[in-house]
Amino acid sequence: MPTSSLAQAAAALSRRLDALSKVSDDAGATTRTFLSPAMRRANALVGGWMRESGLDVREDAVGNLIGRTQPQSAGVKTLLLGSHLDTVKDAGRFDGTLGVLLPLAALDVLRGRGLSLPFAVEVLGFSEEEGVRFSSAYLGSKGYTGRLRKSDLTLSDPEGVTVAEALKVLGFPAALPAAAHAPSDLLGYLEVHIEQGPVLEDRGLPAGVVSAIAGQTRGKVVFTGEAGHAGATPMGLRRDALAGAAEFIMEVEAYARTRTPLVATVGRIAAHPGASNVIAGSAELTLDVRHPADAPRRAALRHLLGAGRSIARRRRLGFSLAITQDNGAVACSRELSALLGESVRARQGSTLSLPSGAGHDAVIVSSLTPVAMLFVRCRRGLSHHPDEFVKKSDLKAALGIVVDFLERLAARTSA
Ligand SMILES: [Zn+2]
Repeated sequence: MPTSSLAQAAAALSRRLDALSKVSDDAGATTRTFLSPAMRRANALVGGWMRESGLDVREDAVGNLIGRTQPQSAGVKTLLLGSHLDTVKDAGRFDGTLGVLLPLAALDVLRGRGLSLPFAVEVLGFSEEEGVRFSSAYLGSKGYTGRLRKSDLTLSDPEGVTVAEALKVLGFPAALPAAAHAPSDLLGYLEVHIEQGPVLEDRGLPAGVVSAIAGQTRGKVVFTGEAGHAGATPMGLRRDALAGAAEFIMEVEAYARTRTPLVATVGRIAAHPGASNVIAGSAELTLDVRHPADAPRRAALRHLLGAGRSIARRRRLGFSLAITQDNGAVACSRELSALLGESVRARQGSTLSLPSGAGHDAVIVSSLTPVAMLFVRCRRGLSHHPDEFVKKSDLKAALGIVVDFLERLAARTSA
C-alpha cells in the first residue's frame, strides 16, 4: 500500500498514464473500445493499481471498473470519483484516463498524510464513453446509473456483433443492471478531465471549475433549388442551393459570435450534383449548436430556422431542418463546485469557472447524484489525438487541488 508525497504521487501518475496509453487494440497507437481485448487488459492493469491503493476492486455487469475504499455500509456516504477508460481511435494519453488515475494518486497522498476520510470513496473507470464501437456514447455510465435500455443491448458494431453478444462472450450476464447506488447513499461525483479547449491555456491557469456541461442539438439542413448549366443559366434565373447554404452558414456564425458562450458550427457540406460546371440543385449541411443553458440554445435554433426559411424564400429554394440529436444542458452542483473552487483558489491563486462544450460521463451520473468537474489545461486544447498533452507541473497542480478538495470535504462532512 503506497504512501506518497504530492511530488511522488504526481510522478507515479505520469508514469501510469504513459503505461496505460500502451494498452491498445492497435499496434503503435492508443485505441481502446468498449469490451475490446485492450479494455480487458486496461481493467486488469488499473484494477491492480487500485488494489495497490488499498481499494476493493470489482467489475459491474457492463465492464465498469469499480474500486472502493471500504465496503458499502449503512450510515457511511460514498463520494464517486471517475471518468472513462475507453478511447477514440488513435487517441491521446489523458482523455478519460486522467479522471480515473488521478483519484488513486490523491488517495495515496492522503494516506501519506495519515488522513482517513469520514466517507467512502469509489473510484470509477467507465467502460464506454466515446461511442466508437456501437456509435452510441455513455454505455458504461448508463449501466452504472441504471439507465441502460433494452435497445442499447441490441446495438451492433460494424462486424454485426451486438452489445449483448459482446457481453456474453466475456462472461458478463448481458442483463440490464440496476443503479449501483441509491442517491441518498452518495455525496456526489467529481470528474477530472482535460479541458479539450484553449481557455485555460489562454488565461495561463493549470485548472478551472466547470460550471455546466453544454446542451447540444445536432441537425441536418437541406436547401433545394434547381440544377442548371453554369454557362447557359443567367444569374437572375438561378435557384442555387449552394449559394443559399453559404448565406445560411454565414448567419450561423454571425448569430453565435455575438452571443458568447453560444457556439454554432456547420462542419460538413455536400452539394449535388457536385460538378464545377453545374449549379447546385441541392445542398446538405450539418448544424451543431451548444450552450451551457437550454433557453439560449433553443432561441438560437428558432432563429436559425427562421433565417433558413427567409433565405430560402428570397432565393426561391426549399429548406428543411431535421434534428438528429438533442441533449439538455447539465448544471454542475453549486455546493460541490464552490468547494472545488476554494481548492483551486488555494492551490493556484485564482480560479476560473468555465462551461464544458463537450459531453462527459458526468452528464449521465448527474441523474444519480450532484456532479462537479475539474478541467485541466491541455496544450493547444488538443484532444482525441496522439499529441494530446498535459504538462507534468499541471498534473501535479490538479492532483494538489483534488487532495485539497478531499480534505475540505472531509472537514465539512465530519464537522
Ligand atoms: Zn473524455
